[in-house]
Amino acid sequence: MNNAEFRKWAHRLADRMADYYENIETYPVKSGVKPGEIMAQLPKAPPASGEDMKQIMSDFENIIMPGITHWQSPDFFAYFPANGSYPSILAEMLTAALGAQCMVWDTSPAAAELEEMMMNWLRTMTGLPPDWQGVIQDTASTSTLAAILSAREKASTYDINDTGFTGMEKLRAYCSTETHSSAEKAVKIAGIGRKNLVKIAVDAEYRMDATLLKQALARDIASGFRPLIVVATLGTTGCTSVDPLNEIAEVCSEYGVWLHVDAAYGGTALLLPEYRWMIEGIEKADSFVFNPHKWMFTNFDCSAYFVKDKEALIRTFEILPEYLKTGNRGLVNDYRDWGIPLGRRFRSLKLWFVIRSFGLTQLQEKIREHIRMAQWFKFQLVAQPGFEVMAPVPLSLVCFRYAPESISGTDELNRINAELLTKLNASGKLFLTHTKLNGEYTLRMSIAGTLTTQLHVENAWELIRETAAGLKLN
Ligand SMILES: *Cc1c(COP(=O)(O)O)cnc(C)c1O
Repeated sequence: MNNAEFRKWAHRLADRMADYYENIETYPVKSGVKPGEIMAQLPKAPPASGEDMKQIMSDFENIIMPGITHWQSPDFFAYFPANGSYPSILAEMLTAALGAQCMVWDTSPAAAELEEMMMNWLRTMTGLPPDWQGVIQDTASTSTLAAILSAREKASTYDINDTGFTGMEKLRAYCSTETHSSAEKAVKIAGIGRKNLVKIAVDAEYRMDATLLKQALARDIASGFRPLIVVATLGTTGCTSVDPLNEIAEVCSEYGVWLHVDAAYGGTALLLPEYRWMIEGIEKADSFVFNPHKWMFTNFDCSAYFVKDKEALIRTFEILPEYLKTGNRGLVNDYRDWGIPLGRRFRSLKLWFVIRSFGLTQLQEKIREHIRMAQWFKFQLVAQPGFEVMAPVPLSLVCFRYAPESISGTDELNRINAELLTKLNASGKLFLTHTKLNGEYTLRMSIAGTLTTQLHVENAWELIRETAAGLKLN
């Protein structure tokens, strides 16, 4: 492909992208393809000679698009969102065009300095302590792994990095029964061992019980264990419960345990002053992660990881081979020392575009609107006989189920709700997912799409009621 062809196709693709967003509501939200259906349409071997862009794009339309689930659809209410936006997409186009590797300051000074400033902006926007430092990671999973590794190294005075485990460590980590699975994955990878991850029970609103946490720490210390880290969550994945941070932080301070705060989804709500109660006590914590790529209109991937002690992070990850030595060490941030990968994408550019293009006020308005729509949806459920709200709604996720009076027993309720979900998603008109809360099958209505409006939520509610009414009950 030469420059003239690139220009031609770049223009066409810009139109294709704008068309996509103009017509996004016409696609079935969840792809309906069967396993293997896409593979069967792909040649088993790569082409020997180059193919025409026209043919490649035609296959994109015919083979790939039917296998896409439309995460940016305003009728996407599944999981948590990964909501992008136009300014973010434009920045991603530039990032791809520049193709810069942003591993150290020298490899693109603007990327390093913009990242530093964007993390400062986000720190101010969320109300985190002014002396904390931030770095962009790919995902919250990676950020939480970085927290556990830093905690491990700081607690072992950086010995495990040097000599490996001696076999004498009896390290333990703590989270709640509602904590995201990325904590368990990180505990496995960090060599702590999943059997040493203690899951603390939650209260009736699915929040970690700080008294039980304290008892677990005391009991483990008495048994010769060394408590290393506690992971608290602001906005759990199942039902967006908010752990009592200040109480947990008090316990962690008392026992000298690292406190990591996972706010992957919920952190965006901190842009609203009325949600700052969630981080009361944050100054006693050690690290914090939230994903602008979930609810802050920034295309995947972009995870904002903040730490109190930058040195602990850098000492855990830094390594300095001759070929990466530069003359600026100590004067600038070399972000390859702030996490696991060496090579890094220029992710701060899209944050800069998003925050400037929306402005703080409009970001706040959009987030408030998502929260308002979730409350609206909750009140419809409350007012409608036969439906049940399954958990409090502090953010923009509503957990509910269909529970008509004629049906009793968990098994039967679980069965009809699974059927309801399958029918709803097969309609192509929306996409919802589920979880289990205390063993009860629960539908999750996650309202945070960039393009989602009141009308989309109203249509969803109507479809849910109609589909539920059409279920055959035994
Ligand atoms: C989504 C989520 C994660 C994982 O996020 P990734 O960025 O995909 O790793 C972790 N914790 C919570 C609470 C989440 O909701």
